[in-house]
Amino acid sequence: MPAPGLKRTDLLVVGSGVAGLSAALAAAGPATDAEGCQVVVLTPGTLGSDGATCMAQGGVAAAVDPRDDPDAHAADTARAGEGLGDPERIRILTHEASGRITDLVDWGARFDRASDGTLALGLEGAHGHRRILHANGDQTGRELARVLRARVRSHPRIHVVEGVRVRALRARASGPAGPTQVTGVTAEGADGLPVAIEAPVTLLATGGAGRLYRWTTNPPWASGDGIALAIEAGAWLAGMEFMQFHPTALHVSMDPLPLVSEAIRGEGARLVDATGRPLFGAE
Ligand SMILES: Cc1cc2nc3c(=O)[nH]c(=O)nc-3n(C[C@H](O)[C@H](O)[C@H](O)COP(=O)(O)OP(=O)(O)OC[C@H]3O[C@@H](n4cnc5c(N)ncnc54)[C@H](O)[C@@H]3O)c2cc1C
Repeated sequence: MPAPGLKRTDLLVVGSGVAGLSAALAAAGPATDAEGCQVVVLTPGTLGSDGATCMAQGGVAAAVDPRDDPDAHAADTARAGEGLGDPERIRILTHEASGRITDLVDWGARFDRASDGTLALGLEGAHGHRRILHANGDQTGRELARVLRARVRSHPRIHVVEGVRVRALRARASGPAGPTQVTGVTAEGADGLPVAIEAPVTLLATGGAGRLYRWTTNPPWASGDGIALAIEAGAWLAGMEFMQFHPTALHVSMDPLPLVSEAIRGEGARLVDATGRPLFGAE
């Protein structure tokens, strides 16, 4: 936690889930390089442990099996999204996935392996091929967070500030009719004192907004802060009709609700009502 006052950096990353940590590492570049982008990562709790990432269970999809291919993964992804997904983003996601898995393995990620030593691949709903990598059974997110957190903490150009929640983007108009330029953030520390940090580039990686709903599997910080911050600064948003819901959670008095992994349906389980009738038609 820095002393209250203005700080500066090249890139400010808000949030320390898989998105924020990956972006920080990509921007900072190899730790061995003498020079590179200086990055500050802000997070309200503990680095890599306060968002949805460390809760992810079933696994992460990538066409790593030699009999699989990224185009088939892309086709499955487009079909699962009823054709509403952006084809170019789906292409990037599916074609870069196995490279990112290689990075994670090189950095020490311990994905579960079959008896012959190859990566163990699960099947989930909508995938036409086994391509779900998992770690320690259903602890995939925890393993990814462990690896990314260690790499970020040891990087000489990434500075982590824990215990701060961003409250507003600092912005100024770039000219009389020009767009608003974000120049950093104002955050609140655990002690309630304001912390201001300036940067020419601010990346909002604040995760989802599942906490807007009464029953959710999402963690406390999934409150849509990044969306609100962006709107307040004048940003245009896209894709707001998309909200991820887990169709299976245990309805017990716990908050968040414990997830019943989607892997169970990939492996053949069917959702039925009390009379045995399928909930989602013929699955
Ligand atoms: C129970 C559960 C199981 C899941 N299982 C899977 C799975 O098996 N496979 C899969 O692919 N996906 C799964 N997901 C979804 C996956 O976890 C998310 O899509 C992914 O982790 C999102 O990463 P992120 O970095 O965007 O967000 P997050 O990991 O949520 O990180 C957001 C970060 O922003 C921070 N933040 C929020 N507001 C502020 C603020 N105002 N100021 C500063 N920081 C802020 C948060 O504290 C956090 O550090 C699951 C999700 C849940 C909840």
